[in-house]
Amino acid sequence: MTHLATQFPVFNQQFIAGQWRDGRDGSVLQVTNPFDGSPLAQIVQADRDDLDEAYRAAAQAQVKWAATGPAERAAVMHRAVQLFDEHREAIIDWIIRESGSTRIKAQIEWGAARGITLESASFPARVHGRLLPSNVPGKENRVYREALGVVGVISPWNFPLHLSQRSVAPALALGNAVVIKPASDTPVTGGLLLASIYEAAGLPAGLLSVVVGAGSKIGNAFVEHEVPKFISFTGSTPVGLNIGRLASGGQHLKHVALELGGNSPFVVLADADLEQAVNAAVMGKFLHQGQICMAINRIIVEDALHDAFVERYAERVKALKVGNPHDADTVVGPIINAKQLQGLLEKVSRAKEEGARAVVEGEVQGQLLPPHVFADVTKDMEIAREEIFGPLVGIQRARDEAHALELANDSEFGLSSAVFSGNLERAVRFARQVKAGMTHVNDIPVNDEAHAPFGGEKNSGLGRFNGDWAIEEFTTDHWISVQGSPRRYPF
Ligand code: NAP
Ligand code: MG
Repeated sequence: MTHLATQFPVFNQQFIAGQWRDGRDGSVLQVTNPFDGSPLAQIVQADRDDLDEAYRAAAQAQVKWAATGPAERAAVMHRAVQLFDEHREAIIDWIIRESGSTRIKAQIEWGAARGITLESASFPARVHGRLLPSNVPGKENRVYREALGVVGVISPWNFPLHLSQRSVAPALALGNAVVIKPASDTPVTGGLLLASIYEAAGLPAGLLSVVVGAGSKIGNAFVEHEVPKFISFTGSTPVGLNIGRLASGGQHLKHVALELGGNSPFVVLADADLEQAVNAAVMGKFLHQGQICMAINRIIVEDALHDAFVERYAERVKALKVGNPHDADTVVGPIINAKQLQGLLEKVSRAKEEGARAVVEGEVQGQLLPPHVFADVTKDMEIAREEIFGPLVGIQRARDEAHALELANDSEFGLSSAVFSGNLERAVRFARQVKAGMTHVNDIPVNDEAHAPFGGEKNSGLGRFNGDWAIEEFTTDHWISVQGSPRRYPF
């Protein structure tokens, strides 16, 4: 019997080189529910030897895996999809309990993780090489598209299941092996749960390991280890910049994908449908308490619609239900941990000190931070400059369309963005001038489709996930030239 069949949903062990076992570090990670602090798992953490064992087992298993036919790898992905369906409720329940997700968010995350698994099932048959002509008589140029080898995946706590799986599924489907280091707040949904799904789906042992340990302790070793040829990191910009440096400046050069912080502008032009723009701004800001890299970070409204927008938005936001994430109608659940909550409270104080006007506010209760909306926000205030990652937002007034664009682009980040207008071509013209990897017209900036390119510009990262772009990221080219007749050399 596999782990999924026997122990689900209890996860107190690591999954290393095909074995469920304790880590060797000795210290115990207590995993708790952010809403009520109740214990969810106790995991003896991994040390560098565990990490080394996971990487070596992955390297060994990968060779045979890469040589399997496309149907065999696709079949594992299809069985994984089936397990996502069979265990839907248990998976959603884990996401709610471990990451403090509302039910709505947990359902969205389950759907996104399932979606990339299904998409990845098509990759083994979609990946292809090329034949190129040659200038050399008698030569044929072949370009083979091959697996990279072992991929190291580091994921954050906000969408742990999906943000691990969007790297794990393509990597495995394309013939790579994977080691995951999940965030310490979410080791189950960010790794162990996936390991149990793949184990039950028949993935050969060693191809996927999950090492649970603090980033501050094993993070550098995870990145610098000689085995992984690709590090796929999703998390904060400071940690990501450091990983980029390690991957390019250490002993072993490797590919990196960096999916980092965001500061999404949400622009409402004067000809927008006010009600629809307000609805989008509510969802695009408060889904998962704003703890989403693509979440609205700045609302920018053209002058003529500004006051009406502020009034209607405040009215809608005040009515959102804050509370137990298990309740189906809760919109704003708990903040992931005390440190994040503290940081958000400091952002609230600073916004007031800097002259922002609170039009919606409320008192903290436990880990629950009610929505805060600030008007009269200017581009130099902290709430506009920094990634918020919580249920707070500032509204800026734009004089006109050009000013709105200038404000939208005034950021070190460039992940997602959105623009509302009653004129679609005007909106597309605007969208094309936004310096970001993703811009959504008349919608929220929070969008992710398994076949569409996901990624950012500027300090939001490097690389693209999903669809053809994932096939590109998780494989590499091998040029093989074949000299069919003897070549004449000049000496
Ligand atoms: P974080 O602190 O950067 O942590 C992300 C991951 O990196 C965790 O697994 C963490 O492990 C690990 N880590 C920490 N220090 C490390 C080190 N020195 N070396 C290697 N790994 C290390 O980010 P977070 O607070 O979990 O997540 C929030 C951030 O992620 C936000 O900035 C958000 O915008 C970004 N994000 C981006 C995307 C995207 O697609 N662009 C999606 C979601 C989130 P520990 O937990 O053990 O510290
Ligand atoms: Mg963290």
